[in-house]
Amino acid sequence: MRLSRYFLPVLRDVPKEAEIVSHRLMLRAGMIRQQASGLYSWLPLGYKVLMKVQRIIEEEQNRSGAIELLMPTIQSADLWRESGRYDAYGKEMLRIEDRHEREFLYGPTNEEMITDIFRTYVKSYKDLPLNLYHIQWKFRDEVRPRFGTMRSREFLMKDAYSFDLDKDSAVKAYERMFVAYLRTYARMGLTAIPMRADTGPIGGDLSHEWIILAETGESQVFCHRDLLEKPIPPKNVDFRGDLKPIFNDWTSLYAATEEMVDHAEYEAAVPEDKRVSARGIEVGHIFYFGTKYSEPMKASVTGNDGKETVVHMGSYGIGLTRVVPAIIEASHDENGIVWPVSVAPFEAVLINLKAGDADTDAACDKLYGELTAAGLDMLYDDRDQPAGSKFATADLVGIPYQIILGPRGLKTGEVEIKHRKTGERETLPLANVVERVR
Ligand code: ATP
Ligand code: MG
Ligand code: MG
Ligand code: MG
Repeated sequence: MRLSRYFLPVLRDVPKEAEIVSHRLMLRAGMIRQQASGLYSWLPLGYKVLMKVQRIIEEEQNRSGAIELLMPTIQSADLWRESGRYDAYGKEMLRIEDRHEREFLYGPTNEEMITDIFRTYVKSYKDLPLNLYHIQWKFRDEVRPRFGTMRSREFLMKDAYSFDLDKDSAVKAYERMFVAYLRTYARMGLTAIPMRADTGPIGGDLSHEWIILAETGESQVFCHRDLLEKPIPPKNVDFRGDLKPIFNDWTSLYAATEEMVDHAEYEAAVPEDKRVSARGIEVGHIFYFGTKYSEPMKASVTGNDGKETVVHMGSYGIGLTRVVPAIIEASHDENGIVWPVSVAPFEAVLINLKAGDADTDAACDKLYGELTAAGLDMLYDDRDQPAGSKFATADLVGIPYQIILGPRGLKTGEVEIKHRKTGERETLPLANVVERVR
């Protein structure tokens, strides 16, 4: 992508309304634009990152055996009356009436709708286990939308729903999601810690919140320091096998959010030098809630013994539009964002130090062509701008590698590569660049 032809509305000034660093940087880097309180447009650079996050989530969900579908954003109020949540949900639910005066709502979550789909088609225990997920916009009329897309009113969520014959197999489904979540956040460069959590309006008795430690987090959390360094299950982890050892290993160390913490228990379980009491951001939440929805909504299957059995369910959320600012909270410096390679909007930026100079332009154009042909997702700063401003933009938007070429390098046949994360620079022959960054 040639920057001269791209849409990257970078802001020089720090926006006043932004209280936390990720919000400031997302505005400055031209990633998002607020359209009304809690409603955001995702501009091209932000949207690219969001889609990279989405792809990682999909890959890990699919690997764990979950199946993707897509449900609408607007739901019928009647479905929510069946579960009893229509009145219980309160003001956070945006209620809508159509021209026929029928009642609808903009979905804040999809337990009811997926249970309706399930009960329509699935009749036999032989079709279980089943885990269906989608990635769709949700709406919650938050009392206080803030911190940009961290707490917005419309937000993109991955929500998965598991269906099983009994509690034992539902817990296995929970463990599969647990392992998939460990891998998902790690692939995005995040250290997310599963913590015992309150089940809130979803209800149920087994639940973990996935927490990123950050000073700007909205909740207080308590955990064992070793959780921050635990190895993540590998790509080839067997989702058809027994995942209980991994689950037990992670959950044996103390970790709880403020709603769930028992201070005496915490102090007994964690030696003083291993105690981490910090602020945290909730980037995901998983629940096992048994028959809370399947019972009132009559989602049952015929068991092995020919008897009707109400299915056991779980639900598993990740807020994609919250994960993006959470990554920035965890990875930035005074010059801007430092994207982990896996979610970076571009893999590298080629900086032409003297746009307009025929020889430099020709050399940069050629290198850009080669890097693109090698399969790299490149940004090419071909604008006629001072070098300093180009470096500042490259640092701000946080692309992992800056490939720098100007008249001086051209003379010696050398290119400079700057690593955004470490600031490390290396000089190498022009002919070796493609090889080096591929
Ligand atoms: P919070 O405690 O932050 O209000 P929640 O507990 O209400 O979140 P869940 O119902 O558990 O949220 O939804 C699953 C995930 O959706 C959350 O873990 C979070 O990542 C994301 N999420 C929830 N509300 C918002 C929001 N207003 N803006 C962005 N993401 C959100
Ligand atoms: Mg909430
Ligand atoms: Mg919460
Ligand atoms: Mg939650």
